[in-house]
Amino acid sequence: MRVHHHLDDASLMRYASGDLDPAFCMVVASHLAMCDDCREAVRLAEAVGGDCLHQAPDAVVSDGALARITQMIDADAAQDRAPVLEMPKAAANAASDVPLPLQSLVGGSLDDVDWQWVVPGVQRHRIELAGTDSSLFLLKINPGRKMPEHGHGGTEMTLVLRGSYSDSFGRFGPGDIADLDEHVEHQPAVDSDEPCICLVATEEPTQFKGFVSRLMQPLVGI
Ligand SMILES: [Zn+2]
Repeated sequence: MRVHHHLDDASLMRYASGDLDPAFCMVVASHLAMCDDCREAVRLAEAVGGDCLHQAPDAVVSDGALARITQMIDADAAQDRAPVLEMPKAAANAASDVPLPLQSLVGGSLDDVDWQWVVPGVQRHRIELAGTDSSLFLLKINPGRKMPEHGHGGTEMTLVLRGSYSDSFGRFGPGDIADLDEHVEHQPAVDSDEPCICLVATEEPTQFKGFVSRLMQPLVGI
Protein backbone atom coordinates (compact mmCIF):
# COMPACT_ATOMS: atom_id res chain seq x y z
CA MET A 1 0.00 0.00 0.00
CA ARG A 2 1.38 3.41 -0.99
CA VAL A 3 0.87 5.88 1.86
CA HIS A 4 1.47 9.61 1.29
CA HIS A 5 0.36 11.19 4.57
CA HIS A 6 1.90 9.96 7.80
CA LEU A 7 1.76 10.43 11.55
CA ASP A 8 3.11 13.54 13.20
CA ASP A 9 6.45 12.88 15.00
CA ALA A 10 4.90 13.86 18.33
CA SER A 11 2.13 11.29 17.89
CA LEU A 12 4.69 8.62 16.99
CA MET A 13 6.71 9.34 20.12
CA ARG A 14 3.63 9.40 22.35
CA TYR A 15 2.46 6.08 20.91
CA ALA A 16 5.92 4.51 21.34
CA SER A 17 6.07 5.66 24.96
CA GLY A 18 2.54 4.42 25.73
CA ASP A 19 1.33 7.99 26.40
CA LEU A 20 -1.56 8.22 23.95
CA ASP A 21 -5.30 8.21 24.61
CA PRO A 22 -6.86 4.81 23.70
CA ALA A 23 -9.08 6.29 20.96
CA PHE A 24 -6.08 7.93 19.23
CA CYS A 25 -4.03 4.81 20.00
CA MET A 26 -6.47 2.77 17.91
CA VAL A 27 -6.18 5.17 14.94
CA VAL A 28 -2.37 5.12 15.19
CA ALA A 29 -2.26 1.30 15.47
CA SER A 30 -4.56 1.04 12.44
CA HIS A 31 -2.31 3.37 10.44
CA LEU A 32 0.76 1.35 11.49
CA ALA A 33 -0.93 -1.79 10.18
CA MET A 34 -1.13 -0.05 6.78
CA CYS A 35 2.19 1.87 6.76
CA ASP A 36 5.66 0.31 6.70
CA ASP A 37 7.39 3.70 7.17
CA CYS A 38 5.63 4.61 10.41
CA ARG A 39 5.93 1.06 11.74
CA GLU A 40 9.69 1.34 11.29
CA ALA A 41 9.71 4.80 12.91
CA VAL A 42 7.91 3.44 15.99
CA ARG A 43 10.40 0.58 16.23
CA LEU A 44 13.26 3.11 16.13
CA ALA A 45 11.60 5.30 18.77
CA GLU A 46 11.14 2.29 21.05
CA ALA A 47 14.77 1.23 20.51
CA VAL A 48 16.05 4.73 21.31
CA GLY A 49 13.91 4.80 24.47
CA GLY A 50 15.39 1.46 25.54
CA ASP A 51 18.97 2.64 24.84
CA CYS A 52 18.44 5.77 26.94
CA LEU A 53 17.47 3.64 29.94
CA HIS A 54 20.34 1.22 29.31
CA GLN A 55 22.95 3.99 29.09
CA ALA A 56 21.81 5.90 32.17
CA PRO A 57 24.80 6.24 34.54
CA ASP A 58 24.83 4.17 37.71
CA ALA A 59 23.59 6.17 40.66
CA VAL A 60 24.63 5.97 44.26
CA VAL A 61 21.67 4.35 46.00
CA SER A 62 20.96 5.19 49.61
CA ASP A 63 19.73 2.72 52.19
CA GLY A 64 16.01 2.07 51.78
CA ALA A 65 15.88 3.60 48.30
CA LEU A 66 15.06 0.31 46.62
CA ALA A 67 12.15 -0.30 48.98
CA ARG A 68 10.81 3.21 48.36
CA ILE A 69 11.08 2.77 44.58
CA THR A 70 9.30 -0.59 44.79
CA GLN A 71 6.49 1.06 46.77
CA MET A 72 6.19 3.82 44.16
CA ILE A 73 6.02 1.29 41.32
CA ASP A 74 3.37 -0.74 43.17
CA ALA A 75 1.31 2.40 43.83
CA ASP A 76 1.62 3.47 40.21
CA ALA A 77 0.58 0.03 38.94
CA ALA A 78 -2.47 0.09 41.20
CA GLN A 79 -3.83 3.19 39.47
CA ASP A 80 -6.21 2.80 36.59
CA ARG A 81 -4.21 3.24 33.44
CA ALA A 82 -5.34 3.50 29.87
CA PRO A 83 -4.76 0.24 28.03
CA VAL A 84 -1.81 0.40 25.64
CA LEU A 85 -2.35 -1.36 22.36
CA GLU A 86 0.22 -3.74 21.00
CA MET A 87 1.92 -2.50 17.86
CA PRO A 88 0.71 -4.62 14.95
CA LYS A 89 3.35 -7.11 13.87
CA ALA A 90 2.43 -7.12 10.20
CA ALA A 91 0.38 -5.34 7.59
CA ALA A 92 -3.37 -5.97 7.63
CA ASN A 93 -4.83 -8.93 5.82
CA ALA A 94 -5.03 -7.89 2.16
CA ALA A 95 -8.44 -9.56 1.90
CA SER A 96 -9.96 -7.00 4.30
CA ASP A 97 -9.93 -3.20 4.24
CA VAL A 98 -10.38 -3.16 8.04
CA PRO A 99 -6.92 -2.84 9.67
CA LEU A 100 -6.11 -5.77 11.96
CA PRO A 101 -6.16 -3.79 15.26
CA LEU A 102 -9.64 -2.53 14.39
CA GLN A 103 -11.11 -5.89 13.39
CA SER A 104 -11.80 -6.93 17.00
CA LEU A 105 -13.99 -3.81 17.41
CA VAL A 106 -15.85 -3.52 14.09
CA GLY A 107 -15.50 -6.94 12.44
CA GLY A 108 -13.72 -7.91 9.26
CA SER A 109 -15.74 -6.02 6.63
CA LEU A 110 -16.65 -2.34 6.24
CA ASP A 111 -19.71 -3.51 4.30
CA ASP A 112 -21.11 -5.28 7.37
CA VAL A 113 -20.78 -2.30 9.74
CA ASP A 114 -24.01 -1.10 11.39
CA TRP A 115 -24.15 2.40 9.84
CA GLN A 116 -26.41 5.15 11.18
CA TRP A 117 -27.41 8.14 9.05
CA VAL A 118 -26.28 11.43 10.56
CA VAL A 119 -27.24 13.85 7.78
CA PRO A 120 -27.95 13.16 4.09
CA GLY A 121 -24.76 11.79 2.56
CA VAL A 122 -23.06 11.02 5.88
CA GLN A 123 -23.26 7.84 7.96
CA ARG A 124 -21.52 7.05 11.23
CA HIS A 125 -20.72 4.01 13.35
CA ARG A 126 -19.72 4.72 16.95
CA ILE A 127 -17.03 2.50 18.45
CA GLU A 128 -17.21 1.95 22.20
CA LEU A 129 -13.81 1.99 23.87
CA ALA A 130 -13.05 1.90 27.58
CA GLY A 131 -10.71 4.33 29.31
CA THR A 132 -11.10 7.35 27.03
CA ASP A 133 -12.87 10.73 27.11
CA SER A 134 -12.35 11.11 23.36
CA SER A 135 -14.64 9.80 20.62
CA LEU A 136 -13.82 7.02 18.17
CA PHE A 137 -16.02 6.22 15.17
CA LEU A 138 -16.19 5.31 11.52
CA LEU A 139 -17.57 7.84 9.03
CA LYS A 140 -18.93 7.04 5.58
CA ILE A 141 -19.24 10.13 3.39
CA ASN A 142 -20.78 10.09 -0.06
CA PRO A 143 -18.93 11.16 -3.23
CA GLY A 144 -18.88 14.89 -3.96
CA ARG A 145 -19.67 15.90 -0.41
CA LYS A 146 -17.79 19.11 0.43
CA MET A 147 -17.31 20.56 3.91
CA PRO A 148 -17.26 24.24 4.87
CA GLU A 149 -13.79 25.56 5.62
CA HIS A 150 -13.17 25.14 9.30
CA GLY A 151 -10.70 24.92 12.14
CA HIS A 152 -10.47 22.43 14.96
CA GLY A 153 -11.55 22.60 18.59
CA GLY A 154 -9.00 19.96 19.56
CA THR A 155 -6.78 17.26 18.13
CA GLU A 156 -8.45 15.18 15.45
CA MET A 157 -7.01 12.11 13.69
CA THR A 158 -8.61 10.80 10.51
CA LEU A 159 -7.42 7.61 8.80
CA VAL A 160 -8.83 6.83 5.35
CA LEU A 161 -9.85 3.18 4.94
CA ARG A 162 -11.70 3.34 1.60
CA GLY A 163 -12.22 5.98 -1.10
CA SER A 164 -10.51 9.38 -0.87
CA TYR A 165 -10.88 13.07 -0.10
CA SER A 166 -8.84 16.16 -0.94
CA ASP A 167 -8.07 19.38 0.91
CA SER A 168 -5.29 21.97 0.98
CA PHE A 169 -2.87 19.29 2.27
CA GLY A 170 -3.40 17.09 -0.78
CA ARG A 171 -5.31 13.93 -1.59
CA PHE A 172 -5.94 11.37 1.17
CA GLY A 173 -6.53 7.76 0.10
CA PRO A 174 -6.50 4.41 1.93
CA GLY A 175 -3.76 4.33 4.58
CA ASP A 176 -3.31 8.12 4.64
CA ILE A 177 -3.75 9.82 8.00
CA ALA A 178 -4.58 13.44 8.80
CA ASP A 179 -3.02 14.14 12.19
CA LEU A 180 -4.28 17.68 12.84
CA ASP A 181 -4.18 19.98 15.83
CA GLU A 182 -6.53 22.81 16.74
CA HIS A 183 -4.59 25.40 14.66
CA VAL A 184 -5.30 23.77 11.31
CA GLU A 185 -8.02 24.97 8.94
CA HIS A 186 -9.04 23.05 5.85
CA GLN A 187 -11.94 22.23 3.53
CA PRO A 188 -12.08 18.51 2.69
CA ALA A 189 -14.16 17.17 -0.19
CA VAL A 190 -14.74 13.52 -1.06
CA ASP A 191 -13.35 13.02 -4.59
CA SER A 192 -13.66 9.24 -5.08
CA ASP A 193 -16.43 7.54 -7.05
CA GLU A 194 -17.28 5.43 -4.01
CA PRO A 195 -18.07 6.72 -0.50
CA CYS A 196 -15.05 7.69 1.59
CA ILE A 197 -14.81 5.64 4.81
CA CYS A 198 -12.58 6.98 7.58
CA LEU A 199 -11.66 6.00 11.13
CA VAL A 200 -11.77 9.14 13.28
CA ALA A 201 -10.68 10.03 16.82
CA THR A 202 -11.57 13.45 18.21
CA GLU A 203 -10.92 15.23 21.50
CA GLU A 204 -13.51 17.32 23.28
CA PRO A 205 -16.55 15.79 21.56
CA THR A 206 -18.97 18.30 23.10
CA GLN A 207 -17.36 21.41 21.60
CA PHE A 208 -18.57 20.82 18.04
CA LYS A 209 -15.82 22.75 16.32
CA GLY A 210 -13.90 20.13 14.31
CA PHE A 211 -14.42 18.73 10.84
CA VAL A 212 -16.48 15.83 12.11
CA SER A 213 -18.34 17.98 14.57
CA ARG A 214 -19.37 20.29 11.72
CA LEU A 215 -20.86 17.27 10.03
CA MET A 216 -22.82 16.55 13.18
CA GLN A 217 -24.14 20.08 13.63
CA PRO A 218 -27.43 19.54 11.76
CA LEU A 219 -28.04 16.55 14.01
CA VAL A 220 -27.48 18.35 17.28
CA GLY A 221 -29.25 21.51 16.11
CA ILE A 222 -26.43 24.07 16.34
ZN1 LIG B 1 2.80 6.31 8.00
